[in-house]
Amino acid sequence: MIATAKALGNGTLDRIGNTPLIRLERLTAHLPGIQILGKAEWANPGGSVKDRAASAIVLDAQQRGLLGDGRGLLDATSGNTGIAYAMLGAALGFPVTLCMPSNVSPERKKYLSAYGANVVWTNPADGSDGAIRKARELAAAEPDLYYYADQYSNDENWKAHYRTTANEIWEQTEGQVTHFIAGLGTSGTFMGTTRRLRELNPRIRCLSMQPDSPFNGLEGLKHMATAIVPKIYDASLADENIEMPTETAYSMAKRLARNQGILVGVSAAAAVAAALQIGEEAAAAGREAVIATILCDSAEKYMSERFWQEG
Ligand code: PMP
Repeated sequence: MIATAKALGNGTLDRIGNTPLIRLERLTAHLPGIQILGKAEWANPGGSVKDRAASAIVLDAQQRGLLGDGRGLLDATSGNTGIAYAMLGAALGFPVTLCMPSNVSPERKKYLSAYGANVVWTNPADGSDGAIRKARELAAAEPDLYYYADQYSNDENWKAHYRTTANEIWEQTEGQVTHFIAGLGTSGTFMGTTRRLRELNPRIRCLSMQPDSPFNGLEGLKHMATAIVPKIYDASLADENIEMPTETAYSMAKRLARNQGILVGVSAAAAVAAALQIGEEAAAAGREAVIATILCDSAEKYMSERFWQEG
């Protein structure tokens, strides 16, 4: 990936991945033998974990000659993947068209327009499904204009994590990681990281995390609640699936900000809450644990959410 980026003469790709692994030591001070480590994915140039999948999808399309010559990238995304595509399109010089429900947060709209992406708004009542249907429709109508990246079905999504995230966690923990926990959006992060970590050590417990309700407020973790389940998702890969209430994620976001000095987004907070639950269970059983999780993005895009002011 680095060689390609250098050949393209653009530093954006070089800055994706190799994020710091942060020890949340104050959170586990009461749990002897337990460490919770979070990958600070906001350190990616687009500000989230989705830079990894988006760049893998884009490089694959470029290598197969599917982008360029007037052909742009098209996908359905209400959030970080869209920001990542928009950044990469601007950096590498191809147009980006995104289908998304019109009720996405004003912060997100600002990022996309700053990068110059085209947005096709869909009815919020139709949720992510409506955006996916619209993208499929546009791709079928104008195949010469659009490469439909389809992050839900594109194997490059999970392979990005198989090739990068998992190996980074393995090296940063010097092979000591005992548990891996990630929230499920498209499921790319969990699928790819889990597959590679299991190859490195089949005894690592890999746990997926999902909101406890389809009407949750956890941006980034809403895909599974739709009728169109991602093709790349294989539920059998998880040792366990943890369900997380929105309120628990909100209070963890505040706790991390106030007790740890780390401002993370709501899906990252939900992942940390799940990690803490596993850490508490391990400590109660008298076991040690090195629990790695993914801090998908920072709180930057969620600062207007009301929960920060409540309680
Ligand atoms: N958290 C946030 C903030 C996200 O934007 C996403 C991507 N939708 C996820 C978690 C889930 O990542 P993945 O799509 O790899 O499952």
